Formats: sequence, C-alpha cells, structure tokens
Amino acid sequence: MTHDDASTDGAPDADAPLRNWAGNVSFTASRLRRPTSVVELQTIVANASRIKALGSAHSFSTVADSVGELVSVADLPRVVTVDPSTSTVTVSGGLRWGELAPELHAAGYAVHTMGSLPHISVAGSIATGTHGSGDRNGCLASAVTSFEMVVPSGDVVRISLGDKDFDGSVVALGRLGIVTSVTLDVQPTYDVAQVVYDALPWDAALENLGDIMGAAMSVSLFTTWQGHGFEQVWVKQRIGDPAVDLTSTGAVPADGPRHPVPGAPVSHCTEQGGVAGPWFERVPHFRLEFTPSSGEELQTEYLVPRVHGVDALRAVASMHEQVASVLLISEIRSVARDDRWLSPAYDRDSLALHFTWIADTDRVLPVVRELERVLAPYDPRPHWGKVFTPSHVGARYPRIEQFADLVARYDPRGVLGNEFVDHCVLPGGDR
Ligand SMILES: Cc1cc2nc3c(=O)[nH]c(=O)nc-3n(C[C@H](O)[C@H](O)[C@H](O)COP(=O)(O)OP(=O)(O)OC[C@H]3O[C@@H](n4cnc5c(N)ncnc54)[C@H](O)[C@@H]3O)c2cc1C
Repeated sequence: MTHDDASTDGAPDADAPLRNWAGNVSFTASRLRRPTSVVELQTIVANASRIKALGSAHSFSTVADSVGELVSVADLPRVVTVDPSTSTVTVSGGLRWGELAPELHAAGYAVHTMGSLPHISVAGSIATGTHGSGDRNGCLASAVTSFEMVVPSGDVVRISLGDKDFDGSVVALGRLGIVTSVTLDVQPTYDVAQVVYDALPWDAALENLGDIMGAAMSVSLFTTWQGHGFEQVWVKQRIGDPAVDLTSTGAVPADGPRHPVPGAPVSHCTEQGGVAGPWFERVPHFRLEFTPSSGEELQTEYLVPRVHGVDALRAVASMHEQVASVLLISEIRSVARDDRWLSPAYDRDSLALHFTWIADTDRVLPVVRELERVLAPYDPRPHWGKVFTPSHVGARYPRIEQFADLVARYDPRGVLGNEFVDHCVLPGGDR
C-alpha cells in the first residue's frame, strides 16, 4: 500500500504487501483478514494464535504489526447513529473521520477536534491517542464514552465511561481487543474560519507562547528550524469566539493559501483566508481527497508538559542544524490533559512537538536519538504511531502497571501481543 491509496476505504487490500500508508514500514504479519460481520470477526479472533487490528495503516511505528495475522474492521457493516438524548454518536471503528464528519454535520452535530488529516480510521486513531491542537481540546480518545470490542476469547465486550476498565482501555494500542464500534460525545455543529500568518518571530513566540496557543480553538506553529522563528501560524477560530489578531507579535497575515511543507501543493490543504465553513472542512489541515502532508516522509512527535513547552522548544533549537538537515517541517500544537492511561497527554496539559522528516530512516534515526537526549529533562512522551527509539517508554505512564493487569486479564494467551507493545510499552519488556 502506498499513499496513492489515500482516497480508498482506508484499509490496505487483503492481497497487497503489508506496509504502512507511506510504504516505509513493512509488517511481518502473514496476511490481512477483512471480515464482513462481527460474528465472522469473533470466529477469526477466537481461532487465532496471534492477531492484531490494523486501521488505515497511517502509523510510522510498528505499533500495528503482528507476527501472526492482521485484521481490519473496515468491511464490517457501516454504523453512524446519532443519539440526541445523550449527545453522542455511535460509529463503526473502521470508518474514517473524513467519512463520518459530513454525515455528522448534516445531522447537526460535530466532534470537538480532528487530527491534521481526515484519512485515518476512528478506532486506529483513538487507539494511539491521536490529537489535533487546542489548549482546551483533548485528544480524539477524550470524546469516547463507550466502545465495543471483540476480545481474544471471541466474546464481544462493551466498556463505558464509569466502568473500572474504561480509562485504561480506550487508548490501548490494540492490545486488549479488536474495536468494532465507538460512541463519541458530540456537540451542535459549528463553523470555523482558518487564517494563516507568516513569519512569527522566535522571541515573540516564546515570550507569548501561552497567549498564542490559546488564542483560538486550534493553533499550530510551523517551522523548518532554519529561519528566525515560525514560518507559518495556522489559526482555526470558531465563528462566534472573540476575534484573533496576532499581528502585535510581528506575524504577518499570509497573502494567499499555504501548505505547511515548503513547495507542496496548497490545493491539498483545507480552505484558509478567514472564509467560514463547517468544522470538518477547516479543523484538519488536509483534504480527504488528496494526499495529506508530503506522502514521502517519516514522522516523530513528543508531548511534553505545557509548563516545559518553552524550554523544550529551546532544547530543539539548540540542535536546529541537525534537525533541519533531515526535516520537511515541524509543527507545534497544544493538547489538553485527559484521563486515558496510555494517552500521551494523560494527566498533563501538553505541548506537542512534531517533526515530519525526509523518508530516510538511516539519516533520521540519529537525529531522533539526539532529540530524545535534549528533550529528556522535560519528560517527553512519544506519539505511539510515530518514529522514536523504544526504551521502556511505558515507564513514563503512571498507570502502566494497571494497564499490564488489564492485558493479563483480557488476553491471558498473548494473542494480541506484538514486539512493539510487549517489549517497549509493557513493564518487563527487554528494551
Ligand atoms: C500524514 C499523517 C498525518 C498525521 N497527523 C496526525 C495528527 O494530526 N495528530 C496525531 O496525533 N497523529 C497524526 N498522525 C498519526 C496517526 O494519526 C496515528 O498513527 C493513528 O493511530 C493512525 O490511525 P490508523 O487508523 O491508521 O491506525 P493504524 O496505524 O492502522 O494502527 C494504529 C494502532 O491502532 C490499533 N488499531 C487499529 N484499528 C483498531 C481496532 N479496530 N481496534 C483496536 N485497535 C485498533 C492498531 O492495532 C495499532 O496499535 C498522522 C499520520 C500521518 C500519516
């Protein structure tokens, strides 16, 4: 599978070579199963010795791999059921956000945030703690109120907010079961206007970081680490919220549409220029019908406590030449704390430092290692779906022992285990 598949249903073909979306992570799994009913999925899982869910394969780590088989829920019957009495929507786990969003909007509803791209599956993005930006916006998983999954015994289990296992099982890296449907909090639909500024000076950005990141529902800073600040600031403002004007920082309103990656086609990006439109056509950076980001790339991201945000940015700046030598673009976002045990924003308001790298693992990995060294004082938690150097990362999560207990209880035979989760996340792993 390659990024040319961006406009298909989002899951790789059963017979295609098993790789991630960018084509640069090869899976060891022998094949991909695509059941068309929950009963068929239950049979597959109950009979498997090793199996793991694959979403839309947009991760750059091996979090989704399995030494046995992979299974996609993309062909299960499609469900989108809004319940106005609870302000929730129940959706199939294999649906992509870009497919769900217009339907939700047409019904008069919206979700609180989206990632930068609408191409990813609901269950797969929730499983890794995928997030957008916004001081008050938790990750996508923070909207979950309940979900159903097929557990290794083959049984269907529903877990809801308030159940003792809930907080530990929403962001679970596919380690507890195959999620078939998810119920999400929704709110009345809203419009957003997106404005891009150029040339936010470094000193002004650091002096006013809190005010800038909190100026609108979603703010992203982009930098190549080559100039004297942030080349672009993307401000997504809810219509009805107080007006935002960042010009006092020295930033200049862009004179036309921008793509975050220098030289990439602006037509791939959502509408800018302050034109109001539905939330799902402004909150993601990229349009569903086009390749998001660059396509030929690797990605890395660390979430640090927001209070350490300025120091963490200074730490990256201390190695800016090294970073810039393998970088396409960096994005800085804000993420609100949440209660999901394995969410990188668990229990701490966070600043997310993202790096879109050139697609050259040999050149990128040494830079990632050095980044991890300079960021270490700030307790960074890597994005589970992006490139990092695994080393007992689970230890950075206060509830990791309780998560291991959940794994032992739901999956005593280790059916859903893989190298990534069992050796770099769970306690007792050897890396
Ligand atoms: C161009 C690009 C832009 C991105 N932008 C962002 C961004 O803005 N913010 C951000 O936080 N991340 C971003 N990411 C990372 C991406 O959102 C995550 O890697 C996400 O998990 C991918 O979702 P997926 O459906 O492709 O999951 P996959 O990569 O297929 O799987 C990820 C994990 O989810 C599990 N999983 C998948 N389906 C299920 C299921 N049905 N039941 C149980 N577990 C399941 C898998 O086992 C695996 O552990 C981006 C990635 C790309 C390629």
